[in-house]
Amino acid sequence: MIFRQLIHRDTSTYTYLIGGETRAALIDPVAEDLDKYVQLLDELGLTLAYGIDTHVHADHVTALGGLRDCTGCVTVMGHPARAQCVSQTIADGDVIEVDDGVSLRAMHTPGHTDDSYVFVLGDRVLTGDTLLIRGTGRTDFQNGDAATQYRSLFDKVLRLPPDTRVYPGHDYRGFTESTIAEELAHNPRLQVESQDAYVALMNALRLPSPRHMDIAVPANLRCGKTSPS
Ligand code: FE
Repeated sequence: MIFRQLIHRDTSTYTYLIGGETRAALIDPVAEDLDKYVQLLDELGLTLAYGIDTHVHADHVTALGGLRDCTGCVTVMGHPARAQCVSQTIADGDVIEVDDGVSLRAMHTPGHTDDSYVFVLGDRVLTGDTLLIRGTGRTDFQNGDAATQYRSLFDKVLRLPPDTRVYPGHDYRGFTESTIAEELAHNPRLQVESQDAYVALMNALRLPSPRHMDIAVPANLRCGKTSPS
């Protein structure tokens, strides 16, 4: 199996390329890096079967629309995705077969946004902005909800086997991977005794809006296209 973690430095976004012998998927691709993805796929001899966003992003513009135009890939987001150009909408428990022996199991984990999903890939989990390394995705805009995120984390993601390797959608401090056990032990957001305590912690954050939010959210509802199509 091919597993590559690619970074978009300006927004500290991780994009994941996963693939088998001939077919691949890109998860959370960034529009500015479209040419880089197309070249890498070509060099590795892979056909892009799927472009997947874990949620509507507020901090970068998605490459889904560009990749679909370049490669003919299926563009995927999870219910209740509102992006206009998604060609396949998935739900909790759905499995995306990328190639022989390479599949992604979708887990609906609302909280950061109501359309947030994580994807289980064997002993790895791609956590989007639901679970970050030593953090969790903010819940103060885009239909975010801290109580819902608490349940997504503690009733779903954190119940994966403890040695599951965690790959987040962002990291701002240079961390690249973790495990469920490591996050349960050391993630400060997870050291809470109740849902109410988690909500209080998240509500106290008072974070500034992402730099690119006013551009990124409207563009991402059109799969990264800067004008309606
Ligand atoms: Fe996000």
